[in-house]
Amino acid sequence: MECARLPRARLPPAEPPGGESLPGAPEDTAVPQPAYIALASSGELERRVSAAMACLSSCRLCPRLCGANRAAGEFGFCATGRHALLSSAGPHFGEEAPLVGSGGSGTIFVAACNLGCSFCQNSEISHERLGREVTADEWAELMLGLQRRGCHNINVVTPSHVIPAMLEALAIAIRGGLCLPLVYNSGGYDLPDALRLLDGVIDIYMPDFKFWDPEVAARYCDARDYPERARAALREMHRQVGDLVIDAQGLAARGLLVRHLVLPQGLAGTAEVCRFIAQEISRDTYINIMDQYRPEGRIGELGPLDRRILRDEYVEAVAQARAAGLQRLDRRRLPMGF
Ligand code: SF4
Repeated sequence: MECARLPRARLPPAEPPGGESLPGAPEDTAVPQPAYIALASSGELERRVSAAMACLSSCRLCPRLCGANRAAGEFGFCATGRHALLSSAGPHFGEEAPLVGSGGSGTIFVAACNLGCSFCQNSEISHERLGREVTADEWAELMLGLQRRGCHNINVVTPSHVIPAMLEALAIAIRGGLCLPLVYNSGGYDLPDALRLLDGVIDIYMPDFKFWDPEVAARYCDARDYPERARAALREMHRQVGDLVIDAQGLAARGLLVRHLVLPQGLAGTAEVCRFIAQEISRDTYINIMDQYRPEGRIGELGPLDRRILRDEYVEAVAQARAAGLQRLDRRRLPMGF
């Protein structure tokens, strides 16, 4: 199948990327095919679809380990059955600069969630499951539509609980000519075993690393094991795709991009999270230190999170990332002087 590569061809040649690429950081002038093209050609992708679908009969796709028979209509924590619920699909220009370019990131919001943070800023989608159940054919057509609209990638938001449906749709979309990198944009609450189903499928992993302290994770997500699960997930993601490679046009081609949302009163554990990433993943990890926390979701349960962060808290978080040795910080919101 010929791939037109139209979206990248439309980029202006001389725009600097908003993300920071330091000397020695990986850059590339070639425009590689997404990894999944080779996997599909070899027949391995179809085997992955079958293996992922088999997981649904006793679902242990994520650290909740519910064991629900989703194939038979049972629900686990994520309240999602055989098919995915999708909330929206469209070009998104608010993502990190290497994902956005001129055509936007082709963002598909999956409804429901396997983590369920009480402060979620998309709680209508994640908690109230605002979305529509779609077939694999419908999902594939959404991907192809985003490609036709000039998006630079397919960015699946909160995919952890719908890996089987995503793979099934992807296989159909590839037959229809899909040739954009696939972005796995998760909360970081993923299992290495499930991620291995995506080895050679995903080009860009974009997990959150939300909290370092298990007590904080227990309080706000009922997931005391979140920090250890996120550490294992980041290791596996980085093993598969390495550091983020940004091509000559400033677009992310492949690699790991980590998001970390700064919380009031240092509750996210920014210093520890950044030290872990620098020391045990890579000092060349591209990281977005995010300042946009606002109190939403189940507001009565928020306690110390019932306010926005202070500017000084954000400045301190960025300084902690630098002190940990991380150099590739997404620059869009960095304070002057950073
Ligand atoms: S994907 Fe859903 S059903 Fe499966 S283990 Fe996770 S929360 Fe439970």
